[in-house]
Amino acid sequence: MTAYSMIIDGKEVGKDLKTIDVINPATGNTIATVPYGGANEAVLAVNAAYDAFQEWSGLTAYDRSSLLDKWHELIEKHTEDLAQTMTEEQGKPLAEARGEIKYANGFISWYAEEAKRIYGEMIPASHTGKRIFVHKQPVGVTAVITPWNFPAAMITRKVGPALAAGCTVVIKPAEQTPITAIRLVRLAMEAGIPPGVINVVTGDASTIGKAWLQDTRVRKLTFTGSTEIGKLLMRGAADTVKKISLELGGHAPAIVMEDSDIDKAVDGVVAAKFRNAGQTCVCANRIYVHESIAEEFAAKLVERVKQLKVGNGMDEGVAIGPLIDEDAIRKVQSHVDDALSKGAKIAVGGTGMDGLFFEPTVLLDVKDDMVCMQEETFGPVAPITTFSSEEEVLRRANDSIYGLAAYVFTENISRGIRMSEKLEYGIVGLNDGLPSTPQAPFGGFKQSGLGREGGHHGLDEYIEVKYISVGL
Ligand code: ADP
Repeated sequence: MTAYSMIIDGKEVGKDLKTIDVINPATGNTIATVPYGGANEAVLAVNAAYDAFQEWSGLTAYDRSSLLDKWHELIEKHTEDLAQTMTEEQGKPLAEARGEIKYANGFISWYAEEAKRIYGEMIPASHTGKRIFVHKQPVGVTAVITPWNFPAAMITRKVGPALAAGCTVVIKPAEQTPITAIRLVRLAMEAGIPPGVINVVTGDASTIGKAWLQDTRVRKLTFTGSTEIGKLLMRGAADTVKKISLELGGHAPAIVMEDSDIDKAVDGVVAAKFRNAGQTCVCANRIYVHESIAEEFAAKLVERVKQLKVGNGMDEGVAIGPLIDEDAIRKVQSHVDDALSKGAKIAVGGTGMDGLFFEPTVLLDVKDDMVCMQEETFGPVAPITTFSSEEEVLRRANDSIYGLAAYVFTENISRGIRMSEKLEYGIVGLNDGLPSTPQAPFGGFKQSGLGREGGHHGLDEYIEVKYISVGL
């Protein structure tokens, strides 16, 4: 078992502190420990990031870009061991973990390029004796708070653009999955990214979060996690008027129209629903299938779901790993039980297995008043309901406080575009169950969040616009 440290100002710190166990959800074994840091470490990290900011933001974009490229190279070289670490601490199948490292690293290379394209503007003035310059500058020290479901990608999706823009960061990874984060940051140090530019603090989330919220030197907060904690952080950020980006819960509808290619729709729904054992904020949570094809779609989906092998993510051929903890199992079971008590039927699965495993499940005859149709299940449960018209399904799909991702399956392109435009969601997968990619803007409408991550839009979140009015 390895005792990991925090990384503050390029140094490994916190060996003298109490520790938190990192547990492999597939086996229940403790695989590592990290220090239980608090306000003291949170402030030390901000000191380091604040001091490093002058030098880092003063580099040319080309220099920052080349350091990001070196980090990218090292992550690529370490794909296999990073993926294994991820599977051990998070549970996802090794093939998915490898995919996540590649995806996560895509943000580093994308933003290494974008760093060089943070263009300003010159706006024509209304007076011959004036010039109007618009200059783009990094926001400053950025607090990064991330969840456990994507231990690498949630870090790079924030740190990549922050560093590209010239910001320095303090990171608080999820307590369940800090090792991937620490190992990524060690590689950043090895790549030559200067001490203090990226700091990682582990420990008491609310104490660390509070210290950063109160600190006027922290100018930006970027968070991915639950809507509940996101709201709390948003309130907390108000006192010092920090810039904020929030990527919160989702409750994605997947709509399968009567003119869809059913096999393609089944593939899309399996990808959107069962990836990471259903533990992603863009997972399909409500599956609306047109009544005329519902039977055929359900039969094909059930056949596919029966083939999903459940087990330790390190084992060959496993498609569904464990859920993250006991609370997750309880939540998933309660959603299934609620649906059954209100008339739903199990087509496959439906119960917890030994340890933290849950059978991949398909529920039929699902109604809108069931809890799974209103709250994020965050587990491998696919609830199917039917509809009879496009208008009806759009109304039901939009009837949510969330607005992150939605999926539509139809071979009618006009209808697909029309429906995509009417869905009140930040991301629409039109015949696509896996829309996330580094160069596209990811983010939610409504209570699913604020701001965008990925693409050139993701860089704007770390930039202040300065207008310089020049009198000649
Ligand atoms: P989840 O339910 O997916 O674990 P959370 O929103 O609880 O989502 O956690 C996401 C991240 O927010 C984690 O890194 C967690 O430690 C952190 N977090 C939880 N509570 C707080 C808090 N009060 N202040 C700051 N960060 C917090």
